[in-house]
Amino acid sequence: MQWYATEKRKQVVVPTAFWWLSLAGSLLLLSYALFHDRDSVFIFAYAFTWIPYIRNLMIHRRHAAAHLNCPSCRLVCPPHSKFCFACGAGLSSGVEKTSP
Ligand SMILES: [Zn+2]
Repeated sequence: MQWYATEKRKQVVVPTAFWWLSLAGSLLLLSYALFHDRDSVFIFAYAFTWIPYIRNLMIHRRHAAAHLNCPSCRLVCPPHSKFCFACGAGLSSGVEKTSP
C-alpha cells in the first residue's frame, strides 16, 4: 500500500490507510500470539507495535483538522497559511477551521 502510493506520486508517501492496515495487522498478530500460540517471545514482539501506529493516526488527524478554509473561495489551505494561495484572501488562523 505504502509502496504503491510512493510509486504513484514519485515521492515517499505514507497514506493513512498504511497506518490503519499496520494497526489491524499488529492487533491480529497480537491476538494470535495471546490466544493461540501463547509464546511469550511472540507476545512481547507484538505487545507494543500498535503504539506508533496509533500515534501517527493521531498526528494525521490533528494535522488534517488544522487546515484552514478560505473565507472567499472556500479552498482548503495548509495549516498556518496567512493568505489563500488561490485567491490571495487573508486567512485568520484558528478562526476559519475545517469542520470535521
Ligand atoms: Zn481563496
